[in-house]
Amino acid sequence: MKKTEKEAFKNRLLELKQEVLNNDLSRDTEDLKISSDDLPDEADIAASVINQQVTFGLRDRNLNKLRRIEEALYKVDQGTYGVCEECDEPIGSKRLERQPFATLCITHAEELERENRGRAAI
Ligand SMILES: [Zn+2]
Repeated sequence: MKKTEKEAFKNRLLELKQEVLNNDLSRDTEDLKISSDDLPDEADIAASVINQQVTFGLRDRNLNKLRRIEEALYKVDQGTYGVCEECDEPIGSKRLERQPFATLCITHAEELERENRGRAAI
């Protein structure tokens, strides 16, 4: 991978990291809140439990994403960024543009997805 290309992906990763951090603290959780005005009083507790679960779910996902972004940034510094962890083949640029924190080539990502059927593939 060319140095300029690597720099571009690094910047993209840093942007993504910032997005995740901002999302976690504000926007997404705000959008998903259930308005308690629309609910009878006895439903308030249930609604707040749902809100908590939604918030925790988001945090888990964001933390996971954040960890992958950090890993990718580390790889950029180590010079191993953009290489499949399974076969050591370069991950396609198109794939990296869509998922800058991908650690597997499309072949192995699809394989993993089949193995983890039912789980969200990242
Ligand atoms: Zn591979």
